[in-house]
Amino acid sequence: MLFCLLSVIYCEHLIFRQAINSCNSETPSWVSIKEPEVYNITRVILIADPQLTDALSYSYAPEGSVLLEILQFYCDYYMRRNYRLIQENLHFEAAFFLGDLFDSGRKIEENLYEEELQRFNKIFHKIKEFPVYNVSGNHDIGYRIGPKQAALATKFEENFGPLNYKVTVGGFTFVTISSLTVEEEISIPKELSTQTINFIESLNSEDIYPSILLTHVPLWRPRNTHCGSENKEHGPLVDRIGGSYRNMLDKGVSEHILEKVKPVHVFSGDDHDICEVQHSETTTEHTVGTFSWLQGVTHPSFAVVSLIHSEKNSTVVVDICFLPNMYALLSWYLILVPVSVWFASPGFKHQGLVLLGTNYSPIQSGARGVLQRVLYSIPFLCKRMLFILLPSLCLYFGFTLL
Ligand SMILES: [Zn+2]
Repeated sequence: MLFCLLSVIYCEHLIFRQAINSCNSETPSWVSIKEPEVYNITRVILIADPQLTDALSYSYAPEGSVLLEILQFYCDYYMRRNYRLIQENLHFEAAFFLGDLFDSGRKIEENLYEEELQRFNKIFHKIKEFPVYNVSGNHDIGYRIGPKQAALATKFEENFGPLNYKVTVGGFTFVTISSLTVEEEISIPKELSTQTINFIESLNSEDIYPSILLTHVPLWRPRNTHCGSENKEHGPLVDRIGGSYRNMLDKGVSEHILEKVKPVHVFSGDDHDICEVQHSETTTEHTVGTFSWLQGVTHPSFAVVSLIHSEKNSTVVVDICFLPNMYALLSWYLILVPVSVWFASPGFKHQGLVLLGTNYSPIQSGARGVLQRVLYSIPFLCKRMLFILLPSLCLYFGFTLL
């Protein structure tokens, strides 16, 4: 029972706190070596693709089903707890959400949209003051969905802010581009693509330097470009277009955006896995992984970005922070619950002793009997560890390390 209690404390509390605390990014050594007083360091957090699970997310969890209720509860709770811990334990000046805030924002009716909005605000509730900036994703405003995109874009702007904008944080200009409305030839309605293109054309890289580009859809890269060591599950991005999505922007569009903005760094979302790609000597792109444990990766994550700025030098340091592996936790509970019930059951003592080969009754009474029982129980406990707990722990840590 004590082991069960300790397990729950570890799985429900310590493991989450440990994950967030391990993210406290440190000031790079070269800053402290070279005149630290001339550097201004600001930290921001980047969260991608929370994609709130809803009744349209999974065919096996339809509206009104118990499974949907369970999935929504656990996923919302997971993200809410992590977001609260981030605020309590990390020092940052602003938060950026890189799109796909809802899963079915582009499909749901007006009254359900309001419900989803309330859910989102509850999960990402602020317990301290800091500005939040949003990027629109294909699950929010759609892609190649025709005139409906205009209404969705308006709804997004009303609730989450503009589609295209620039904002200065820590001496850097964050340039957000609406990547789902940037392709003039296929975009309907035209007003949205015109707005995005006009915004890009209005940018002057010298005026906004140093700049950081934010785009939901990652920029183009050659086929099979390696995504770096942090990418654990999806591998290189594939240039695919499908029903209301595309995996990377067009080559020409990407090059034009890079030319206009000349960013020192690019951040994107959409893929759900992490990807680091060097576009040029001066520009690196980080695709930030999903914040949700229900979006196809076992290692949800977010990014802490240190903006290091001085008169002569401006650079960013990116720390990828992994969140606990919920599949490993659930697997552990699946083992722990039946084993605990079995251990606690009235018939366990007899069954357990027979099963493990230590069917023993003390021959002494009183204190000697107790001592004898303790001594005889040592091999029994060792066997119990060997047969039940060790495989369970191996399974648990196996999942965690995957
Ligand atoms: Zn997306």
